[in-house]
Amino acid sequence: MSHMSMRQARGKDLARKGKVSRTGRHTWRVESSDGSKNYTITDWQDRDNRFECTCYDYRKNKSSVCKHISAVKFILVRDEFGLDLIGGDL
Ligand SMILES: [Zn+2]
Repeated sequence: MSHMSMRQARGKDLARKGKVSRTGRHTWRVESSDGSKNYTITDWQDRDNRFECTCYDYRKNKSSVCKHISAVKFILVRDEFGLDLIGGDL
């Protein structure tokens, strides 16, 4: 995992554990790793490809990508490009 940040690694882990479910065209729900919380992720569909999450980490660091958004991105890459980066090591 040379080029992966901690958030990406955690996001990948959430994706692998099946914590991501699509709830709408541009929205997803990601469960916390212990299953105690749910977060809503929204794809803004803007030019900068930004996503929004309801978790504390995202709200605190507005411009950053939290592990939940990272998890959604792994799922998107798999579903839209047929590239499964979830199962193997990057
Ligand atoms: Zn989040």
